[in-house]
Amino acid sequence: MKIKEGTLIKNKNGTSDQNHPNGWINAYTKYNKLDKVSCCICSLESPILGAHILYDSHTYIVPMCHFHNKQHGLLAVNKDTILVPPSILLEVKV
Ligand SMILES: [Zn+2]
Repeated sequence: MKIKEGTLIKNKNGTSDQNHPNGWINAYTKYNKLDKVSCCICSLESPILGAHILYDSHTYIVPMCHFHNKQHGLLAVNKDTILVPPSILLEVKV
């Protein structure tokens, strides 16, 4: 689902043990039919990973740069950020 620019999300730390067989960011890119992805906070295009975040008490995957993936506390997303639940991405074969 898309959320509005400036919406606050929170990194879920300690999720490195939760893997996607093809990589979260690859599944995210394919699921959303994107040509390229960029960090949902700063728009950096590379290197990007699929980060676990909390929004409205639920866990989602979003694209993030390594810097923002390490941040604690609330972060404001940029325009047209798409949240996808990890359970949906686990169904995606890349
Ligand atoms: Zn970033």
